[in-house]
Amino acid sequence: MKNIQDCYGINENGHLTLGGVDTVDMAKKYGTPLYLLDEDKIRRQCAIYKNALKKYFPEGSMPFYASKALSFVDIYKIVKDEGLGIDIVSSGELYTALAAGFDVTNACFHGNNKTDFDIEYGIKSGVGYIVVDSQEELCAVDEIAGKLGKEQKILLRITPGIDPHTLKAISTGRVDSKFGTPIIEGKAEQITKAALEKKNARLCGFHCHVGSQIFEPDPFIEASGVMLRFISDIKDKFGYETDVLNLGGGFAVKYLAEHAEVNIPEYIESIARNISSLCEKYSIKMPKIFMEPGRSIVAGAGVTLYTVGTRKEIPGFKNYISIDGGMPDNPRYALYQSPYTVLCANRANEAPDYKATVCGRCCESGDLIAEDIQVQKMDRGDTLAVLVTGAYNYSMASNYNRIPRAPIVLIKNGNDRLSVRRESFEDLIKNEVL
Ligand SMILES: *Cc1c(COP(=O)(O)O)cnc(C)c1O
Repeated sequence: MKNIQDCYGINENGHLTLGGVDTVDMAKKYGTPLYLLDEDKIRRQCAIYKNALKKYFPEGSMPFYASKALSFVDIYKIVKDEGLGIDIVSSGELYTALAAGFDVTNACFHGNNKTDFDIEYGIKSGVGYIVVDSQEELCAVDEIAGKLGKEQKILLRITPGIDPHTLKAISTGRVDSKFGTPIIEGKAEQITKAALEKKNARLCGFHCHVGSQIFEPDPFIEASGVMLRFISDIKDKFGYETDVLNLGGGFAVKYLAEHAEVNIPEYIESIARNISSLCEKYSIKMPKIFMEPGRSIVAGAGVTLYTVGTRKEIPGFKNYISIDGGMPDNPRYALYQSPYTVLCANRANEAPDYKATVCGRCCESGDLIAEDIQVQKMDRGDTLAVLVTGAYNYSMASNYNRIPRAPIVLIKNGNDRLSVRRESFEDLIKNEVL
């Protein structure tokens, strides 16, 4: 277990542990499906980024936790406590962060199509940076800031035209992306010129995000190379000195034992070495560097627990193990066939000698968590654990089939605490006008 994430283990009863706590006990105490999160692990990941950015980049450089990976009030409190900023992508995330008492002057507000409401709410709330995606948005931000009598700091989202060699659905920096303004045909230069002429929007720098689940530093090195050349061109053309370069997120996470280990500080060091040599080459001052890790902060800290129901063997085809959750709490297999490590939490020490497909309880054949994987042979009443589910699970959860959303329990120093209650049936109809 430890070979996947350092917060997993197996205790003397053969049970899976998270942060030293028996997961089978947690399933009994809180019911299933259940999201369990190791808060200590999340804090360690925050510290890794904080320290590495501090060590290798100029003062003011910092990580911004990309909260779309996992957004609820307590996560913003944890991240705030660890001294990170946040990346938010909607007014709903902003509202949640404000409810946590987060100082949003340390926030970057993203999104390829912010509404006027989003922009106004962001400016009124004092969001640090609005990351402007397009010319139209630039005009809208300038106009709304003017109306509110405020000056708003902005970064421009630039598409560096990099293919990060990850899944198409999570690749965002290619020229044909729906995000940002491409460098080709002078588009990025045009929007920069326009931004420099605005009165109420103050240009502070540039942003790029190439994709997600990236195992190699190369795409970041390539992207920062493109961005620094652009920054240098902009300096030559407009005399504009860039204060901030935000390199986005996307560091990979180990989901399976056979995945490579990602050494974040080493990664950051190699990116830093490249950036500093390019700054020298172009004779530009090294900008403050922001990074926006999401997945790699929270994914490994999470385990989802389910109770096994029916096991169905179709001779010559498949063995199905059914769980009491599925795509409503984890749509990632249905969306992108994301790989997961699955095991029997109450017999974690037994050999995974049974080939099975783990399926959810929804009325969809595509409601699967993993296909044809090796697991322990599980029966009704066993506790099934899916590992590395801290990112893009709860935040992507739905009420499909009118299944109430699962609760979140935080583990800290060996103690468990309910952070998000399980939804009730009353919650399911609370917005309906009866
Ligand atoms: C999704 C996203 C991130 C976070 O990506 P991870 O793969 O979760 O690290 C960071 N920045 C932006 C702009 C994003 O869209």
